[in-house]
Formats: sequence, structure tokens, C-alpha cells
Amino acid sequence: MKRFKINFSNSSTDYYLVGDIANLKKIIVFKDVVFITDENVFRYHKQKFKGRNTIVLKPGEEFKVQATVDAIIEQLIAMEADRKTTLIGVGGGVVTDITGYVASVYMRGIKFGFVPTTILAMVDASIGGKNGIDVGVYKNLVGTIRQPSFILHDHKFLNTLPETEWINGFAEIVKHACIKDAALFRQLEENSFKTFQKKKDTLRDLIQRNTVLKTKVVQGDEFEKGERRLLNFGHTLGHALENQYELSHGQAISIGMTYACHISEQLTGFKETSRVVNVLNKYGLPTYASFDKQKVFEVLKMDKKRERKEMNYILLSKIGKGIIQTIPLKKLEQILSEMS
Ligand code: ADP
Ligand code: ZN
Repeated sequence: MKRFKINFSNSSTDYYLVGDIANLKKIIVFKDVVFITDENVFRYHKQKFKGRNTIVLKPGEEFKVQATVDAIIEQLIAMEADRKTTLIGVGGGVVTDITGYVASVYMRGIKFGFVPTTILAMVDASIGGKNGIDVGVYKNLVGTIRQPSFILHDHKFLNTLPETEWINGFAEIVKHACIKDAALFRQLEENSFKTFQKKKDTLRDLIQRNTVLKTKVVQGDEFEKGERRLLNFGHTLGHALENQYELSHGQAISIGMTYACHISEQLTGFKETSRVVNVLNKYGLPTYASFDKQKVFEVLKMDKKRERKEMNYILLSKIGKGIIQTIPLKKLEQILSEMS
């Protein structure tokens, strides 16, 4: 398996972007491994976990909570996991977030690696070391930043990925294109879902391009003092919507990106909202939605990007160029309330 060593500020991660989970045995001693996955991934890919220590979680964001962390820790104790143990999260973003978090706190920190099995987790959630859990309506309120030892992409997992999860992943891909990569944006305009689902090489290139894009942003600003904040495009409003309405993450940030484009029109003179909206729709994502502005704003105010009376909001100056703008909360509330 081809390996890329990616350096972060005080650790490094080995990337295997054309990998096979079976080849893990070449890089790690299986008797010291505990796999963490969820019921769906386990059900479809049971043979891959045969004879391995495996903790199987209930699927879904609602289980990305402290109670699940406690349950995992109890199982790790029962399995006699120690400082030599490596946790390997095999699943979507929920599994990788929890795995990274548990590994960061169990015995004050043990090694961990990821085999992301959703497009979203491949291009986004598994990269960058952010891990953690949700608390009530507040997404990712508690967590740490710690890089995995390795990330391995095994595209065979995508054969069982439901359509709704493909759509979720493409929301983050559109996001990457909007903030950083105008050429990628054009590629998304020119192609369609079907191309990427049918042509495995095209999909592999797309996933690699997005993996590299996110990795570079994180390398430049691991602890999110500046540039990394661009990755929050669509997420401020998105997160506020996600936990109050029955929306997937991709749907929520898609609506968030749409509104961020409109806010951009007012504050940066951005003129390409319709292109963004068209691409989002093309990949099955919602754009406009009616929601209780007041209620959503109350949650939005609690966002981690808030600094006292101001919010760092991610806007676009043009496609491929995201910018961080500080907007007073009052102004943001006014702009939002005036939008239809
Ligand atoms: P995400 O990666 O979108 O953050 P999750 O970890 O919640 O989110 O995964 C999304 C859903 O997809 C979950 O129900 C999970 O069980 C399921 N899933 C993940 N990977 C696969 C796969 N390769 N095949 C089928 N279902 C999968
Ligand atoms: Zn996201």
C-alpha cells in the first residue's frame, strides 16, 4: 500500500489512500487492536471483523454522546485494553469522532487510526484530529484535537453506502470547492452524481483531491486560529439547524451555505449565489428552507466561533475564495431576520 506521511505540529499521520482494511495487518499487530464500528458497517462487512476485538455502536449522531463514551470505556476495561492498544474506528464521522475522543482520554491517551467508510468521513471528518461528542443541541461541544496514527481508505466500503450518505458527503465537497478550489467547483458543475458513482477512478480522484485540500488547510492551522475556520463555511447556521430540525448534516450545511452566500452578497459583494445553489441542487441537496429564525439564532449564538458580541462568519468573496469575517451578533441577527 502506498503511504504518505503527513506531518502535523507535534505528530504525524500515515495516509493510505488506496488501501484495503485486510492489509492493516502489515502495519499493525492485530492482537493489540480494538476495532470500533457501528451496527450498519458491521452488518454489511462482518467478515472484515472476524476474529478481531470489536466494539459495535448503535449508528447515528444521537449516539455521539458521553453515555456511548462511557459504554466503550467499560468494554475496553473488560477487554483489558492498555497503553499498547490501538483503537481503530471503522465507520462514518460519528464512529471516527468517538474513536478519536475515547483514544484521547482512555489512560490519558492511546494510539488510534481510522478507516473512514463514508465519503463525508473520508474527505472531512476523519481528517484533522478534531474529535468529540455532542451535548444536548450543541454539536461537538466537548472534545480534543489529536491526530490519528493512520488513515486508510478502502473504497470497497462505499459499495454499501446509501444514497443519502453520498449526498451528505458531497455537501462537504461542494464546501471545499466554494472556499478553496474554483477548478473543483467547475468539475462539480460539469459532472453529476452518476459520473462519480459509475466511474470509480473519477471518484477516487475526487476523494483524494478533497482529502489533500482539507489536509493542507489543517496543516497550515491545526488549532484553528485562522485559515482552518474556512472549513466552517455553512456550518454556523448549519449546526444550529441540524439539531433543531430533522436534517442530515449535509442538508443542514447546504442550507447554511446558501444563506452564507446571501450574507456574502451583502457584505463582500459576492455575485455567484445562483451557481452555488445550482450545484447544491444538482447533488441532491436542499438550499432554501423556512425555519424559526429566532429559535435558530438563539442556538447559533452559542456557536464555538462566537467571540463575545461578535461572530466569525465564513463568507465567499468569489467561488474558490472563502474569507473570515467578524460580524457583530446584532448585525447578523438583523441580516438573518430580513432574509425571506
Ligand atoms: P457521517 O460519516 O455522515 O458523519 P455516520 O457515522 O453517522 O456519519 O454515518 C452515516 C450512516 O451511514 C450511519 O447510519 C452509518 O451506519 C452508515 N454507514 C457508514 N458507512 C457505511 C457503509 N460503508 N455502508 C453502509 N452504511 C454505512
Ligand atoms: Zn461538516
